[in-house]
Amino acid sequence: MSPDRLRGDTMTSLSTFCKRFPLDLNSSSNPSDDVFASTRFVLVEPSHPGNVGAAARALKTMGFSRLIVVAPKIAFVTREPEAVAMASGADDVLASAQVVETLADALNGVHWSIALTARSREYGPPQMAPRAAAEKACEFTGQGQGGSPGAIALVFGNERVGLSNEDVERCSALAHIPANPAYSSLNLAQAVALLGRADATPVTTAPASPPSASSDEIEGMYTHLEQALVALDFLDPANPKKLMSRLRRLFSRSGLEHEEVNILRGIAKHILLKIKR
Ligand code: SAH
Repeated sequence: MSPDRLRGDTMTSLSTFCKRFPLDLNSSSNPSDDVFASTRFVLVEPSHPGNVGAAARALKTMGFSRLIVVAPKIAFVTREPEAVAMASGADDVLASAQVVETLADALNGVHWSIALTARSREYGPPQMAPRAAAEKACEFTGQGQGGSPGAIALVFGNERVGLSNEDVERCSALAHIPANPAYSSLNLAQAVALLGRADATPVTTAPASPPSASSDEIEGMYTHLEQALVALDFLDPANPKKLMSRLRRLFSRSGLEHEEVNILRGIAKHILLKIKR
């Protein structure tokens, strides 16, 4: 992307941004209310307390409140003085942040997750433009089981190494914020702010559709399918190649529904039962 093109894009998003502010966070008529309430910002293995604090500040500024930190390099990172200082007035978001051990824990109950990556990946879920991924995410709010809002997660990687391929594969989509190709890596909190803005932008309400499967349901299905494929001798555990990665990619393109996951698990169960006979 040329520097001119980059400048043009920045101006466009800036004017969109200005037209939409101030956000009326108290108004129940704001179509993005569900999005604010049900979006989790997930930081995977952050190293620097200052970045965790700055990310809390960035997401609160954009109207969000839920921060989850996965396996931080410093155990009680949210209480570190540098984190508290960088959070500034977002100390409430920092204090209520959850610290969990794995990305799977952070995605429990999530229906749509976006992995943010500074570089492209060979494998992984389909890549979408940040705005398109955010719009898609909005379709999932209000889709949870039993009327609870469907949760959305924006997943950010470690400052030095980014997200692992395994973490990226756990997500429903992959997004890259267009940047200078020669230097495309944003600071963690800057990436949080930009995505928060894309996600907060109101979009038209999507028609109701059947409940989507949550991340933990989908992970359970992959485990079950893998067992069935091994039992069928279709997948060699000693030489798995990229079969499961390719299947993950295939299914993540389809936007699996709760019932569809049940069907696939039913198929896996019957394969295993038949082979055991
Ligand atoms: N050196 C790392 C970059 C880490 S920056 C790498 O090559 O992956 C920390 C995190 O900020 C990234 O893992 C990603 O979640 C987010 N981030 C930084 N720049 C980004 C960009 N241009 N688009 C999307 N996410 C970005």
